[in-house]
Amino acid sequence: MRSATLWARMLGLSKAVVEGVEFDEVEQTIVVSVRPRKATKRRCGLCGKRCPGYDQGSGRRRWRALDLGTIQTFLEADSPRVQCAEHGVVAAQVPWARHDAGHIYAFDDTAAWLVTHCSKSAVRDLLRIAWRTVGSIVTRVVADAETKTDRFKGLTRIGIDEISYKRGHKYLTVVVDHETGVLLWAHPGRDSKTLERFFDQLGAERCAQITLVSADAAEWIANVVADRCKNAELCLDPFHIVQWATKALDEVRREVWNAARKGGQKTLAKDLKGARFALWKNPEDLTERQAATLAGIAKTNAPIYRAYLLKEQLRQVFQLKGIHGIALLDAWLRWASRSQLPSFVKLARSIREHRVGVDAALIHGLSNARVESVNTKLRLLTRIAFGFRSPEALVALAMLDLGGMCPPLPGRAAA
Ligand SMILES: [Zn+2]
Repeated sequence: MRSATLWARMLGLSKAVVEGVEFDEVEQTIVVSVRPRKATKRRCGLCGKRCPGYDQGSGRRRWRALDLGTIQTFLEADSPRVQCAEHGVVAAQVPWARHDAGHIYAFDDTAAWLVTHCSKSAVRDLLRIAWRTVGSIVTRVVADAETKTDRFKGLTRIGIDEISYKRGHKYLTVVVDHETGVLLWAHPGRDSKTLERFFDQLGAERCAQITLVSADAAEWIANVVADRCKNAELCLDPFHIVQWATKALDEVRREVWNAARKGGQKTLAKDLKGARFALWKNPEDLTERQAATLAGIAKTNAPIYRAYLLKEQLRQVFQLKGIHGIALLDAWLRWASRSQLPSFVKLARSIREHRVGVDAALIHGLSNARVESVNTKLRLLTRIAFGFRSPEALVALAMLDLGGMCPPLPGRAAA
């Protein structure tokens, strides 16, 4: 093998000609001079179309390659500019790196792979780059992959949710594929405008193929889905509805507790405060002591126990699902309305208002559980993404890790 070919192989280059290799004694780096093969010359760096040359740009330019052994390595080449009919004067495309990138493909892909497999400091130390550089790299790797793959093909069931980051100050809207549990799309913001971007990207034809959408009861989601996906049924997430019941139960507990405190019933007040967790838990998860607490409440405190049973039965509704679930829900609504517990009367009213979505969830047995599990992982990623400069980098990291977009390590076929 000719040494120029060997160098190109070692660096993971294709469509490039190695012209020379030097060792920089001062910087202690290897500098490899390259040029594109003829066929790949004079293309717009943005769109890749062939176009007339413009000028020689700012002379020689360098790109970080993967280290060779222990030595930091750079590619060096001319960086001519072309005149694209669409994009004007831009740097010509190079076959070894993404447009505007300071690192070659193999470096970018290695960084993207490492970031989903190793700790933050391992990535930084191994690659000798700043964390914000990792953020830029994952952003362009994902943007590039998105132009090459059609991730929305055959999509019929999706789940939509939101997740907070930056200590609850910022939000991402998240869309997950129910079939695969894969993160399809995420974007900063939580409003109808944000969600409309997803459906814009999906396109009218594919929107029409969506049959089921699961979400919480947020009005902005319901409105956009009704507007954009004419053939889709919206399923309200059972978990959220049971959560409403847990809140209603807590309201009852708090009222009784306040009354007991004000009335000087110290022991009762203390017992009720301690009973909080027993009331929240599913009966099958109760410890022996919590079960005893609950039994005490059943004996001495009718309203709280009634509220507890209401919460439990509502949970039962969603465990049953189907027509039996719907029948049980009918009975539950009548019971809750007559319960003389204001918070449950109110809850029954709002469930009636959302009845179509609740019934759809019962019939199709669709919950947001898959979305929630993606969100749990995403929440961990928001911590890793801390230090990235833009929310786009956080989204890109999520797409790599949870959206199946992580590239294979260079030189190896995709697993
Ligand atoms: Zn162009």
